Amino acid sequence: MLKASLRSHLTLWFAGLSLLTLLSVGFYIGHIATEQMKQASGNALLSNARSAAALLGQQLRERQLEVYLLSRAPHLERGDLDNPAILTSMKLRSEARAEYAWMGVADAEGRVHQAVNGLLVGQSVQQRPWFQAGLRGEYTGDPHEAVLLAKLLPGLPNGEPLRFIDFAAPIHTAEGRVIGVLGAHAHWSWVTRIVESAVSHKDAAPDIEALIIDHDGKVLYPEALVGQQLAPTDPASPGWIAANGYLTAQVTVPTPASTALSWSIAVRQPLDTALQPARSLFHKLLLLGGIAAVGFALVGHYLALYLSRPIEHLARSARQVQNHESGARFALQHPVQEIAQLGQSIDAMTRSLLGKERELQQANASLEATVALRTAALTQANAELLKLATHDALTGVHNRRRFDEKLTEYSLLFRRTGRPFALLLIDADHFKRTNDTYGHAVGDDVLRQLAQLIQANTRATDFVARYGGEEFAVLLPEIAKPDTPDIVAEKIRAAVAEAHFPVVGQITVSIGVGLADPADNAPTALVSRADRQLYQAKAEGRNRVVCQASFGEMNRQG
Ligand code: GH3
Ligand code: MG
Ligand code: MG
Repeated sequence: MLKASLRSHLTLWFAGLSLLTLLSVGFYIGHIATEQMKQASGNALLSNARSAAALLGQQLRERQLEVYLLSRAPHLERGDLDNPAILTSMKLRSEARAEYAWMGVADAEGRVHQAVNGLLVGQSVQQRPWFQAGLRGEYTGDPHEAVLLAKLLPGLPNGEPLRFIDFAAPIHTAEGRVIGVLGAHAHWSWVTRIVESAVSHKDAAPDIEALIIDHDGKVLYPEALVGQQLAPTDPASPGWIAANGYLTAQVTVPTPASTALSWSIAVRQPLDTALQPARSLFHKLLLLGGIAAVGFALVGHYLALYLSRPIEHLARSARQVQNHESGARFALQHPVQEIAQLGQSIDAMTRSLLGKERELQQANASLEATVALRTAALTQANAELLKLATHDALTGVHNRRRFDEKLTEYSLLFRRTGRPFALLLIDADHFKRTNDTYGHAVGDDVLRQLAQLIQANTRATDFVARYGGEEFAVLLPEIAKPDTPDIVAEKIRAAVAEAHFPVVGQITVSIGVGLADPADNAPTALVSRADRQLYQAKAEGRNRVVCQASFGEMNRQG
């Protein structure tokens, strides 16, 4: 798992959570604002369409009423279609109302009797729909392009074809017989201006557009959309719909029941424009969310710094303790109670642990010193023990036990190599007497000096032991001239005899010499032989050396 610092953890959490919160709030508010904006704009469009439809309906009704009233003139009722008073009336109306392009009277066959400005007089309008409808009753018609009048009237400045809507009413005699039709053409631009004026006022919403729709749902105005089919309004809708990128309100124009005209006014606004305020609110919220997230991240970062600094400090100190470095300090001042408490606890714990460690180290050191001391003493004791085990306490030469071992060793070696060795048994003469005369302690001194004398007259490779009482044994591993065993024995005897012993004066020794023999079954055989020679030396008068027969009698007197 990736390990990140407490600082980055807290920073990321703060920034992420705030961003998430603000985004959700932003989207929620944005959604609500969009819906409300749609509602408000839709209602505004609807009221706009209503007023436009009402205005247009009223204007159309007035024109229709004018044509109706003219058709009911008394002259006309009397059948006098050519009466100039009719023309005067029509002229007055025409001059008062700039929208009228043509106004005239035609007989039942469609021949124009009189008309304002004399236009179309004498011509036939029998094929014109307004005429045919006019014979049947009052008529207000859909717009159409000028057919007969196109050549007679000046064109529109923008080059568009002249378009009119027609009003017509039948001319009856008093008996009710239809004798003609009174018709009027109004400029289509008059109609569109009415609608435009109703829709585009200074308080109107931006980008709104007014459409005039015929009974089939086809667009009559504006020019650019003519003939297009507008989506029918949903009867369940509140009077406006949001579709095809537009918010559209549609209202039927109230027209006189006597006419077949069935228009409606649609007022629409691009959804983009309608919802612009909501969208800009949403964008502002997003921006605010972003800024808040950065702010929260900073707060999180500083809070993390505030919290993580003491923890990092503790971690650093712990590492110092771990590495046995100095300078570790745990007790810290921090306003957060738990952090301060943690520092104090770790401080106390570390102090106690370090104290214990020191105590342990000291105990260990003293233990090691004691062990070393004891080991040295033990080594010395062992050495002494070894010496005690192998040496004679009184004289310091080897003891009897060691002598027995050595004798066995020499015998085995002799059996393997065939190289002979010799044994001298040395016994102090009349030593009982010495003891009796000078005391046991003096006897001991004599024995000590005697041992030294024997040692001094043998080689380092020779083996000197106290055999028991006042008797010593010497093992000679080499039997080679000039120091043959008898020579060595004689040297010892002579040295003792010549030596001066304190208190006692002179002392002598008798020496029996035995030689190792391949025929010996046990080492004791050699001892027995040497002992026999010693016995013989005593028997022959003491202070002498006796060798075994094979060596030749070498009785020498000192
Ligand atoms: P010989 O010439 O026949 O050997 O006569 P001797 O008196 O030396 O022989 P004996 O065996 O009768 O006596 C040995 C004496 O040696 C007896 C004892 O008092 C003495 N002796 C043995 N061991 C010690 C000892 O460790 N210290 C002392 N001072 N005397 C000892
Ligand atoms: Mg003896
Ligand atoms: Mg003796």
